[in-house]
Amino acid sequence: MTMKIAILPGDGIGTEIMAEAVKVLNVLDLKFEMETAPVGGAAYEAKGHPLPESTLQLAKDADAVLFGAVGDWKYDKLERSLRPEQAILGLRKHLGLFANFRPAICYPQLTHASSLKPELVAGLDILIIRELTGDIYFGQPRGRRTAVDGHFPGADEAFDTMRYSKPEIERIAHVAFQAARLRNKRVTSVDKANVLETFQFWKDVVSEVHQQYPDVELDHMYVDNAAMQLVKAPKKFDVMVTGNMFGDILSDAAAMLTGSIGMLPSASLDKNNKGLYEPSHGSAPDIAGKGIANPLATILSAAMMLKFSLNQPEAAARIEAAVDAVLSQGLRTADIWSEGTQKVGTREMGDAVVAAITTTTKTIKG
Ligand code: NAD
Repeated sequence: MTMKIAILPGDGIGTEIMAEAVKVLNVLDLKFEMETAPVGGAAYEAKGHPLPESTLQLAKDADAVLFGAVGDWKYDKLERSLRPEQAILGLRKHLGLFANFRPAICYPQLTHASSLKPELVAGLDILIIRELTGDIYFGQPRGRRTAVDGHFPGADEAFDTMRYSKPEIERIAHVAFQAARLRNKRVTSVDKANVLETFQFWKDVVSEVHQQYPDVELDHMYVDNAAMQLVKAPKKFDVMVTGNMFGDILSDAAAMLTGSIGMLPSASLDKNNKGLYEPSHGSAPDIAGKGIANPLATILSAAMMLKFSLNQPEAAARIEAAVDAVLSQGLRTADIWSEGTQKVGTREMGDAVVAAITTTTKTIKG
């Protein structure tokens, strides 16, 4: 069976890291139909919109979407609807991608690249599940106006709306409890119920859904404490589930525990497990074009794609084993380099993963 993958490289390092992920997919002995389309700033330049209709249609028709990264400071002055980042929000909305999986795994070979003490992160394997389509990022009304009350009536002010409906919370809670069943059966729901009505509701609904999962342990934690615990004792977590904004912030903090944001894959899934797969980082304009970006987060995102959307867990495992092997060989891009290891560029790292996969294939085939 041929699997259709929409390849959306995007901007900055997006094109560099995507080339490596495609290279890896191409050595797997699987049948893919990969079609590439512009997205983000590249699409704005080519077609006048960060998410052109043709790109959206390609993503809708595909079995899965592999996404690089979008954005560049040079687009900051564009009106908001034309900025590159709108492409990712549009894809999430039009594809119904509501569950964002961000695993934060600290490879034993990289414990020294973490900003925390090695003993705090060695063996770290947590999964942050972030709700993607609700919360203050999408709540209406929002905008700017003249204040009629508050501390400075008559002053210019800006406002956003935080909101979650019950079905939105229920479906992400189910995703979290089901994911926990495949791991260590523990969920921490992160909220701000002590201050925000929206998150008192979140807490109540998560607790209600939990009654259907008596085999899974649930605890609740305020987001400020969760941030503190993530850097104090991150291994105490297993699955964390939270809203859109808290998840955005906590998952980036968790990224650093693993050594580099360049190591972190992610998946955004719809209700049928169709998904968009992307590294957790952005387009890194500061290093774009230098050939030094770490492609492993994108390569590991391709592995997640094979596992979650394309039903190819063995191929996914081969990619993961190959990444483990190249790290064991001591190869490091600049972001994870340390004394005594060998610094390589984006392309060399991709080549090494390809070599590790083809070596194991030859061994398996004898
Ligand atoms: P960023 O993730 O692009 O970069 C943050 C830092 O991490 C930079 O120092 C960068 O060099 C480094 N970095 C990121 N990925 C790396 C990799 N693979 N290898 C080595 N180092 C890496 O975040 P930012 O600088 O805040 O944002 C840059 C642009 O990306 C902005 O336009 C932002 O809006 C956009 N962005 C896009 C996405 C997305 O496409 N999903 C996500 C976040 C940010």
